[in-house]
Amino acid sequence: MQNPSPPAPADAPRVSFVSLGCPKALVDSERILTRLRAEGYELSRTHAGADVVVVNTCGFLDSAKAESLEAIGAALKENGKVVVTGCMGAEPQAIAERYPNVLAITGPQAYESVVAAVHAAAAPRHDPFLDLVPEQGVKLTPRHYAYLKISEGCDNSCSFCIIPHLRGPLVSRPAADVLREAERLAKAGVEELLVISQDTSAYGRDLRYAESAFGDRTVRARFLDLARELGSLGVWVRLHYVYPYPHVDEVIELMAEGKVLPYLDIPFQHAAPSVLKAMKRPANEEKTLERIKAWRRACPDLALRSTFIVGFPGETEADFGYLLDWLDEAEIDHAGAFRYEPVAGAPANELPLEAVPPEVKEIRWKRFMERQQKVSARLRKRKIGKRLQVLIDEPGGGAAGALAKGRGKADAPQIDGAVHVASRRPLRAGDIVTVRIDRADAYDLYGAAV
Ligand code: SF4
Repeated sequence: MQNPSPPAPADAPRVSFVSLGCPKALVDSERILTRLRAEGYELSRTHAGADVVVVNTCGFLDSAKAESLEAIGAALKENGKVVVTGCMGAEPQAIAERYPNVLAITGPQAYESVVAAVHAAAAPRHDPFLDLVPEQGVKLTPRHYAYLKISEGCDNSCSFCIIPHLRGPLVSRPAADVLREAERLAKAGVEELLVISQDTSAYGRDLRYAESAFGDRTVRARFLDLARELGSLGVWVRLHYVYPYPHVDEVIELMAEGKVLPYLDIPFQHAAPSVLKAMKRPANEEKTLERIKAWRRACPDLALRSTFIVGFPGETEADFGYLLDWLDEAEIDHAGAFRYEPVAGAPANELPLEAVPPEVKEIRWKRFMERQQKVSARLRKRKIGKRLQVLIDEPGGGAAGALAKGRGKADAPQIDGAVHVASRRPLRAGDIVTVRIDRADAYDLYGAAV
């Protein structure tokens, strides 16, 4: 993603920024940009008009690596001065071999090194306009929602994943640090905070759940305590990348009380016990189906989002059938599926399990998507006739008559469905309106503001 740029003082050094990958990488990009803006750098809309280009890469899958390499190549061609950072920066030789001319290659979260490389390529102005930076920092998301990263790294060892190798072990931010950022964002007009990390439910374990001073009280670095505090800020709080550890049950109560959104993003990845075991998934021994049912009894509006991998080595037709039946029963509101890719360096490559042929993977992926579409359509239909709170993402309504586009509490931005809203009065991005739902398709809802 490249950024829109405001008019810049003529002498301001300019940076063009490409941010690839997941929301966690987006937060890294925001931090780097905030720092550069604080030092007086301006953002350039094009590579050609910049003094230096920063490419924040994604190295999760081979396809993402290919996209990252392509972005580096384009930046070199259009500008020539390129700094590479992000997950792919953890494997500098892959980049250096293909592009020996890049100025610097730094790994994920290496903010200081990226900034130093930018300084070397285009020196900052002597008198930085610190006040150029809005108080909440530079956001790459729209003004009304923001990602809030609560920790870096991961202590798990899922066999298909190289993130712990790329990003290191779990390092949580102190609770007060997270809450101060959240408070600043809320004051700056953010209506929805999306809490992210590699493993949100593990938050604070590395800190031994230490307390830190926030306002007139102390807050423990604990998943539940943090969620409760965030829930008191008066904005929507959405929890991503949660694992179904037993202590997650406690947060369901906060959802039932309306303190945090009734939404859990749990990357289940599979349902068949033998596959989960081979994947070495955290909390794989928990009886998740029963847990989900209990959560829904406690909080009937709970929406679940998840991702799954089909065609993991050793996945039999019976395992896959188990997953499809599980999907039906678990009624996952939003599910995405990936065809398994053997990522270089992942422990799964060493497992003594038979690879699933590509054509079988493809067929399973299609079957998965068809089944999930039915589940999703069934769940959407149940919303017809209901009144939902909707946060508007794209304006509409009023005299022009175009539908506004927003999301209910069950839908995260970018990845879940939308609510299309007819309204006599104009609706702006960031408005929260009550919408009566009249119609649904497999992914989206349609209704009118009341
Ligand atoms: S929880 Fe598993 S999949 Fe997620 S980052 Fe950690 S090791 Fe990777």
